[in-house]
Parts: sequence; structure tokens; C-alpha cells
Amino acid sequence: SAKSGGRGAFRFFEPELDELMHARRNLERDMRDAIAGGEFELHYQPFVVATTGEIRGFESLLRWHHPKRGLVMPSEFIPLAEETGLIVPLGEWVLRTACAEAAKWPADLRIAINLSPAQFRSKELVAVVIGALAGSGVAPHRLELEVTETVIMHDSEAVFAALGQLRELGVRVALDDFGTGYSSLSFLQRFPFDKIKIDRSFVNELSSASEEAQHLARAVVRFAVSLGKTTTAEGVETKEQLDILREEGSVETQGYYFSRPMPASSVAKMLRRGARAAIRAA
Ligand code: C2E
Ligand code: MG
Ligand code: MG
Ligand code: MG
Repeated sequence: SAKSGGRGAFRFFEPELDELMHARRNLERDMRDAIAGGEFELHYQPFVVATTGEIRGFESLLRWHHPKRGLVMPSEFIPLAEETGLIVPLGEWVLRTACAEAAKWPADLRIAINLSPAQFRSKELVAVVIGALAGSGVAPHRLELEVTETVIMHDSEAVFAALGQLRELGVRVALDDFGTGYSSLSFLQRFPFDKIKIDRSFVNELSSASEEAQHLARAVVRFAVSLGKTTTAEGVETKEQLDILREEGSVETQGYYFSRPMPASSVAKMLRRGARAAIRAA
């Protein structure tokens, strides 16, 4: 160990490791306070029918307004929240908050929520979802739960069991970031997902300079559509990408081209202005 090896060889590295541990502990402590302190916020990004521009619903995306650091993005705190188990209370807050917000929208709009592996391990997930639906009055078929392949890989039997129970209630289940993992195809066989979200990396290749990359990306989209499930292309940023997706027919798109994730108040304003028409024109 560093200690028994004498200080000389490790002097240079110890302070860095120490700082890292210290920073993690601080982040963890801050995160515990942040839930109670109301520092978390959900932003919402619409998913839109490619051919018509019609909004089908919104995905909720977590944001942390840290009093000192400012806006902190999920990639900076979700991993630690998962390791420490804080994702369980945080995830419950997300479910309740997102459902409460969706209850204010027109009843044909869906609300999509991202789930982490640790939320399945807590065994309370099904009860928490039922509670969020009952508390908000949102109908189960309006709720879409997004899971990635990594979520499923951790403990696929338990995850599929919980997802199956939720699906029986009428909740929709989406496979997020499709195509990035090792097991996409076998998971598709083992669970009746309602939606497949094609990862942004493929959507990006739709407008690639490489013809080969373009073909692969198109093939992935076509494959997903052919399964007869709702297909969403993530991360659509350009008109060119949108036009290619339109050729593939019945596809939903999500991305900066139509809208960035935005606070609940902006969603409400957008819906009041009748933004379905506005987005259609885009
Ligand atoms: P995700 O579920 O795949 O969400 C899509 C990410 O792509 C979001 O990043 C979104 O802001 C971003 N995005 C959307 N359109 C575009 C685009 O056109 N271009 C580019 N470059 N990016 C786009 P964000 O909000 O930073 O979230 C990152 C990840 O964090 C999410 O990936 C999800 O896995 C996780 N996450 C977010 N909110 C939650 C949550 O409430 N609970 C859990 N467990 N995970 C969450
Ligand atoms: Mg997602
Ligand atoms: Mg995704
Ligand atoms: Mg992702």
C-alpha cells in the first residue's frame, strides 16, 4: 500500500487522490442537501413526429442548480448518485415531479422518465411509480420509462420482472440509447419494449461524409421501424438529418433542431401558444 511503501514514491500522487476523495465527499454531502433544498429541477424536451412536427410528449431531464457551482449536468452527478444510492430518493422525486407537471398538459401528451439500475435494485420501484401516477392523476399509458442496456445488464431478470409488472399496468417501456451496447438485439427478443430510442451517435451519422456510415445509420433506423414499435431518433440537430428520417416514414425525433430541453414554465408557455403548429412549421 501507499503507507507501507514509504512516503517517497507516492508523495506526488497522494494529494491528488486525497483531493479526489474529498471532492466526491463534498459532492455527495451537497447532493443530500440539494434534494431537501430544492436545488434540483427538471427540464423537458419534446419528441416530435418527423413528418408532421406534431408533439407526442416530453422527456424529463434532470438539472442541478448548485449554489456555488451553478448548473450541473446529469453526467457530472448521476454516476455518484448511483454509487451512493442517492439516486433512489432522487429518482422518486423525479417521478413525482415529472408526473405532477405532465398532469397539467393536454392528456394526449406523454411524459418520459429515465431510470437507473439502482432504482430497480431498491425493490420499491413499482410502488413508487404507482404512487406517482395515483398522486398526479396521470394515466399509466401516458408514462414512458426509459432504460438503457446497461440498466438491464446489471440484473436482467429482476429488471425485466419489474418492467413487466409496470407494463401490465399500462406503463410504456422504452429502450434508450439503442445500438450502443453489446446486447441490443438479444434484449429486444427478451422484452416487449414499446419504444426504441436510436442513439444520437447513429443519428449523427445520417449526415456523415462517409457513405458507409450513412448506410449503417439508415439501416439501424429502418430495422427499428420494421419491428413495429415506436421509433425515436435522438439528437436530431439538422434539417438534413430530419429529411432523411422523414423518408423512413413513421419516426419520432428529438433533438436541438426542434427544441432544447427547457424548464416547465417554458413548456407551459409553448403549449399555451399552441406550439404544435409552430413546431410543425419548423
Ligand atoms: P438520455 O436519456 O439519452 O438523454 C438525452 C441527452 O441528450 C440529454 O442530455 C439531452 O439534453 C441531450 N440532447 C438532446 N437533444 C440533443 C441534440 O440534438 N444534440 C446533443 N448533442 N444532445 C442532445 P442530458 O440532459 O445531459 O442527460 C444525459 C443523460 O443523463 C440522459 O441521457 C440520461 O441517461 C441521464 N439522465 C438525465 N436525467 C435523468 C434522470 O432524471 N434520472 C436518471 N436516472 N438519469 C437521467
Ligand atoms: Mg433518455
Ligand atoms: Mg438516450
Ligand atoms: Mg444517454
